[in-house]
Amino acid sequence: MSQSVPSRVAIVTGAARGIGAAIARKLAADGLAVAVVDLDEKSGAETVTAIEEAGGRAIAIGADVADKDQVAAAVERTVTELGAPTVLVNNAGVLRDNLLFKMSEDDWDTVMAVHLRGAFLFSRAVQQHMVAAGYGRIVSLSSTSALGNRGQANYAAAKAGLQGFTKTLAIELGKFGITANAVAPGFIVTDMTKATAARIGVDFADFEKHTVSQIPVARAGRPEDVANTVAFLAGEGAGFVSGQVIYVAGGPRD
Ligand code: NAP
Repeated sequence: MSQSVPSRVAIVTGAARGIGAAIARKLAADGLAVAVVDLDEKSGAETVTAIEEAGGRAIAIGADVADKDQVAAAVERTVTELGAPTVLVNNAGVLRDNLLFKMSEDDWDTVMAVHLRGAFLFSRAVQQHMVAAGYGRIVSLSSTSALGNRGQANYAAAKAGLQGFTKTLAIELGKFGITANAVAPGFIVTDMTKATAARIGVDFADFEKHTVSQIPVARAGRPEDVANTVAFLAGEGAGFVSGQVIYVAGGPRD
């Protein structure tokens, strides 16, 4: 008699909207049960409903990724309600852009807390379940900004930091069947890029047109472009890909 394979459980942070919501929907479509983590539990409801309407399984969990106790509680709830997580996508993110001379300590600390501390806390909390399962996939959202971007000293440092974090997890956790990779998107149309255009006082359509003119595939990125790449890295078939940074930017990056 064939045994049914239990569905894997994924945690996606910042999954109420934008890229995180697309990742959660894609992983659910691939058969994973998904914990949709975002700052406010209610904000995750739309993603959960979309997943359920498509026949998938998901729950919304409210947690600040930078808060150790909230992260621990989120992982516990996932274990209790869905099962032990073996896929983690560190996606939650914020921008606090400013030129260096105008950047406040709070701008710096907030960006470090959400991107770096958040990825650290969630990865540390989830790895025990992955080690116990002898299997795990950790995917963290970096950015082309890791290569340097005007007005983003904090964000660029955090996104470059996530690449070093990822490579180190790959080295430490590989022997437990756990891979760690980073996906580094370029220009993806979400609320975040709309906020960037607003901050620099440019109409979004003009901002998009100018940006697209510099992208080799000649179009803006969509959340689904990132979700498809994350889903590959989160899948069973990507077990020999670890410590990599994949740019999803419509063209090459160094
Ligand atoms: P987004 O539309 O702003 O969505 C980010 C999500 O993260 C929001 O739902 C937000 O919740 C949540 N979040 C923020 N702080 C959090 C915290 N402390 N704890 C839990 N959740 C938190 O951003 P996006 O464009 O989808 O970006 C997703 C990821 O891709 C980010 O890591 C971003 O840096 C990266 N990225 C984006 C682009 C792009 O072009 N869009 C390019 C490169 C990299 P609230 O709604 O409550 O604030």
